[in-house]
Amino acid sequence: MKRLYAGGWIVTCDDAGTEHPSGWVLVEDGVISTVGGGVEPEAGERVELNGAVVTPGLVNTHHHLYQTLTRARAQQADLFSWLLELYPVWARIDAEAEYAAARTGLAELALSGCTTVFDHHYVFPRGVAGLVEAEVQAARELGVRIVASRGSMDLGASDGGLPPDELVEDLDAVLADTERLVGELHEPGHGARVQIAVAPCSPFSVTRRLMQESAGLARRLGLPLHTHLAETVEEEAYCMELYGCTPVEYLTDLGWLGRDVWCAHCVHLSADDIADFAASGTGVAHCATSNLRLGAGVAPVRQYLDEGIRVGLGVDGSASNERSDLLFEVKQALLVARGRGGPTAMTAREALGLGTRGGASVLGRSDIGSLEPGKCADLAIWRTDGLELGGADDLVAALVFSAPHRVDRLVVGGEDVVHGGALVRADETEIARAHRAQARRFSA
Ligand SMILES: [Zn+2]
Repeated sequence: MKRLYAGGWIVTCDDAGTEHPSGWVLVEDGVISTVGGGVEPEAGERVELNGAVVTPGLVNTHHHLYQTLTRARAQQADLFSWLLELYPVWARIDAEAEYAAARTGLAELALSGCTTVFDHHYVFPRGVAGLVEAEVQAARELGVRIVASRGSMDLGASDGGLPPDELVEDLDAVLADTERLVGELHEPGHGARVQIAVAPCSPFSVTRRLMQESAGLARRLGLPLHTHLAETVEEEAYCMELYGCTPVEYLTDLGWLGRDVWCAHCVHLSADDIADFAASGTGVAHCATSNLRLGAGVAPVRQYLDEGIRVGLGVDGSASNERSDLLFEVKQALLVARGRGGPTAMTAREALGLGTRGGASVLGRSDIGSLEPGKCADLAIWRTDGLELGGADDLVAALVFSAPHRVDRLVVGGEDVVHGGALVRADETEIARAHRAQARRFSA
């Protein structure tokens, strides 16, 4: 079936930054066949866009969906104190709560224009099953793509780690469960709806051996590899004390860096670290709002881009960024870049590029992130006739500058996920109600 989305401002996010201010996108069987302006091609169905801006679906590169259950805690804490307060609360997680949490976070993201979500789940209390399966189920029901990680922690407090001993797992169990989930859920190739990544939590909660074996497993199975890195100055001091080197030196020593790896945060990288990231092709998930919320600092993303480092955006978990709005994160990336480097440090289109093609690149996905022939038909369609965009000639820049906005229509693989600003396959009110019932179990 051919469907033509026509009469909109098409922002392709291709290499040349092509835009068609009065253009169309032709979709056939869930894949983009052509994009252009001027004379419209024939199609079985024509969708009138009424001047809407059409961007690629946004790609989120770092989240902890379960944290929607524990918002607004540890309000003045830095990362380590925040974690120490929350670990015992998170230890109550089970599949039912995870499902409710994932539905909420994924629904928020979808309504902010996001079509692909990476989730970094690393809390696996002993004896609790079905956590990754629960979030995958939530993503399938809502209609968004998910890259779910089988994360891990195996370095407890009694061994010098940060998490309490009761929240760390046995190394062999982690690796076996990761491989099981890959066998059951991971879809390789073009158009994958569900993928599994390998993602040990951080240098301060994972042993050297699990870091190494995780990388070995990911490379043997051809999976993306992810961890938190260089988020705070305290983490750097911790690494120096425990391993005698900085976080990036530690990863280099482990043989981690490479094109199949992206790291969350990277707020505190030295000039040498940046050169190592660039030379190895290692990517960055930039989580500006979360870094501001925890007072961790601001990553020098302009410099990363100038050095050729791949950068995507992440809203991060909802306990350190209470709002899972990825278009807002696009704006935030622009604002913090300008806060560091002045008004020319980042354009609105560069920021949008980080949230789309940049995210696809760090997740190792060549099938999403831009509107080009052969890519998945993942479209975010933004109305331009509301109060907040009046007076703007450049509607693309205005969309970013005036974010956040609720997406009007969200299409994943040619299928509607949001229509008329509402979820198509689920009821937002019901999701919120079910989530509150679960979240009560995590109250103090
Ligand atoms: Zn995180």
